[in-house]
Amino acid sequence: METECFPGLTPCEHLAPRYEAMPHGSIHHAKIVCAACGKYMGWQPKPETVVRRIETERKIAAVGSKLLSSWEKAFIESIKKLDGKLSPRQQATLDKIYDS
Ligand SMILES: [Zn+2]
Repeated sequence: METECFPGLTPCEHLAPRYEAMPHGSIHHAKIVCAACGKYMGWQPKPETVVRRIETERKIAAVGSKLLSSWEKAFIESIKKLDGKLSPRQQATLDKIYDS
């Protein structure tokens, strides 16, 4: 669990995030609020989303050792900054390079 520095969260002076599960069927997994003052801090991604991002990061690292075209190199460089949060189209392009 990313509780050390709360990446992506709206900071609060209390540094006391509390996870509130969202109802089944919600697009969000859980809401993160400050346990002390109730301030909204952000959304907790679904576990499968976190797994997919880790898998994406692994693929990006893996294709770095492949012989890539200059276009592919530029594409990989551009998605490295996204923390694994790719659009479906970027994901498909990465998968294609990875499987080639
Ligand atoms: Zn607070």
